[in-house]
Amino acid sequence: MPALDAFSLDGKRAIVTGGSRGIGRAIAEGFAEAGAAVAIANRSADACEQAATEIEAATDARTLAVPTDVTDEADVEHLVERVTDAFGGVDLLVNNAGIAVPSPAEEKPVEEWRETMETNLTGVFLCAKHAGRAMIEGDGGSIVNVSSITAAVADPDVPHVDYHASKGGVEAFTRQLATEWGRHGVRVNNLAPGMVETEMSASDDATDEKRRDRIPLGDLSRPSDLVGGAVFLASDAAGYVTGATLLVDGGYTAT
Ligand code: NDP
Repeated sequence: MPALDAFSLDGKRAIVTGGSRGIGRAIAEGFAEAGAAVAIANRSADACEQAATEIEAATDARTLAVPTDVTDEADVEHLVERVTDAFGGVDLLVNNAGIAVPSPAEEKPVEEWRETMETNLTGVFLCAKHAGRAMIEGDGGSIVNVSSITAAVADPDVPHVDYHASKGGVEAFTRQLATEWGRHGVRVNNLAPGMVETEMSASDDATDEKRRDRIPLGDLSRPSDLVGGAVFLASDAAGYVTGATLLVDGGYTAT
């Protein structure tokens, strides 16, 4: 097979959680450009519909909007059923939905800790569980969990213990799941962004200058910088890659 053909997602059926904006939106559009049918799954029904409609218009790919709260197992089951009905199965899942609510550990309300864990870690488990089951019953598949450099490095400037703990959990979850599902033909990997300009990171302006100085490639990334890595991990080009973490951080963690 010609080398570039292995990167094609032609005929693949994908779910991208948090696909309405930011990194998820860029990955959803990238998957559609690479040939996949793409379901967008986030809580806001309007944003979900809008993203699906715009991606379909821009790429001609099939899209589906399924408003979903990844912390709610019934919602996630419904998501996988809708995608299976509409597309005939599920081959790819990008577990991208996530939140970050900074506050000092000594003051952090336990409700905030729980919400972060529910969204960033339990949500990843629930989507993997139900989409993975569909993959196991089908022809296997590929799961890309969007973790973060915060799984590997601390940041004294942003008080985020719950966020760091959740992303560390995602990376450990990925390694374990990869070992359990390799035999089923389901690959599971992490895509670990550095600092990306999105709504989520907009609140961290005060530390941006200091952080930029630490990035060997010299600037924060944009959501589009994550697309190549996500397509690679999802595609047959990564057919022998599982349990891995692909850092896309401009070299931040190398310093
Ligand atoms: P944004 O805040 O821009 O987008 C988050 C997306 O997740 C939205 O579509 C939102 O839609 C959705 N979402 C949030 N909670 C839920 C939920 N409970 N169920 C379903 N969907 C949900 O974030 P980013 O694009 O910046 O981040 C995307 C991922 O990348 C996250 O996992 C984040 O931790 C990770 N990341 C981000 C970095 C950055 O610098 N921005 C760096 C490293 C990792 P809605 O509100 O409608 O549900």
